[in-house]
Amino acid sequence: MNTNINVFEVFPWNENFETGNLKIDEQHKVLVGLLNKLSCTLVNQTDLELNDALNELANYAKMHFADEQIIWEESFCDDPWLFEHIKAHESFLPAVMKIKEQAADNSLPDIIGKMVHFLVQWLMSHIIHSDKRMVLAISILESSLSIEEAKHLANEKMSGSEKTLIDAILNMYGGMSSRTIALMREVSARKEAERKLSEANKKLEEMSIIDPLTGVFNRRHMNTIFAEKLGKAVRDKTPLNLFLIDIDFFKKINDYYGHLEGDKALKKVSSCLQKHCRRPDDIVFRIGGEEFVILTTNETEKDAYQFAESLRMAVEELQIPNHQSEAGEYMTISIGVNHKIPDTENGQDEFTRIADKRLYQAKKLGRNQVVITD
Ligand code: GH3
Ligand code: MG
Ligand code: MG
Repeated sequence: MNTNINVFEVFPWNENFETGNLKIDEQHKVLVGLLNKLSCTLVNQTDLELNDALNELANYAKMHFADEQIIWEESFCDDPWLFEHIKAHESFLPAVMKIKEQAADNSLPDIIGKMVHFLVQWLMSHIIHSDKRMVLAISILESSLSIEEAKHLANEKMSGSEKTLIDAILNMYGGMSSRTIALMREVSARKEAERKLSEANKKLEEMSIIDPLTGVFNRRHMNTIFAEKLGKAVRDKTPLNLFLIDIDFFKKINDYYGHLEGDKALKKVSSCLQKHCRRPDDIVFRIGGEEFVILTTNETEKDAYQFAESLRMAVEELQIPNHQSEAGEYMTISIGVNHKIPDTENGQDEFTRIADKRLYQAKKLGRNQVVITD
């Protein structure tokens, strides 16, 4: 079986299907090819392609029936075999269209099953039983027997063991085609589900702006908000404040009390910081392990300093034990502040670098403190 979902054969051509008339056999091969193509579009569920494939099959069948009838008319001019055959041809398209029209009332897998089952049965029984028998009779006619004798001999040949064999093959093909379709539909549905899932995951990831541990905004969102605030501050010529906050000796908490206690401490600190951001414009972000950023729009440097001091004290007052800290008995934070009226909208890195330099200064001076100037 072809592993490409778009090019598999529900009904592979078999040389037993050949009637012996080259022109008819070539056209039958095309018909079977179109049947396989239609089955594929049914499996892949593309309505537009389905209509195209159905039309293609219907048009080709019409052309083929006309060609075939010319051949039969030469040998079976007023014979009942000819009329039966024409009747069978005429019933083909309406039967296909009827199944298609039922599509609205049935589930798609039902329709697909019905359609392919009908096409396989019809094409094969028609090609093998009827067409083959007629070609056979024509070749017998050529040895100057009467039409009745030729028909009798052809019937005999097409009824005994050959018919049993052909019926067995047809049944096998019927079962195989429906199982192939079921399998292909499953593969196709699974591929589609996988595609949708990975698309949804990607979207979720892109949309995610919340840090899962602490519930405050993450670094990605900070980049977005920071750019907006910076732009606004440049345009309005108003100050922007960036508080870069880092927990002191946090590694010692992990090492001494365990990672879980470290996580709890991070949650307590972030909710404490969030509580202090009372104005709608004050936003907390967790930008890394034990590092946070707060963006505010305090008017003066003094206000910004006092805000930072209140954060520092509030965290200390949480009294989260940090036995091994060299900065005190409890967990503390250091803060580097940049309070500035920015002059360039693209100055995020430079704006942060200044706060970072001051944070480093706060650490160097002994931690648990705020640095707002160089
Ligand atoms: P300093 O005062 O110089 O900032 O020292 P520090 O120990 O706080 O800084 P350092 O950068 O050496 O260590 C930060 C630690 O934070 C190391 C890392 O394992 C820990 N950490 C980062 N993310 C998480 C987290 O999500 N949960 C926990 N429990 N720990 C984290
Ligand atoms: Mg750090
Ligand atoms: Mg730290």
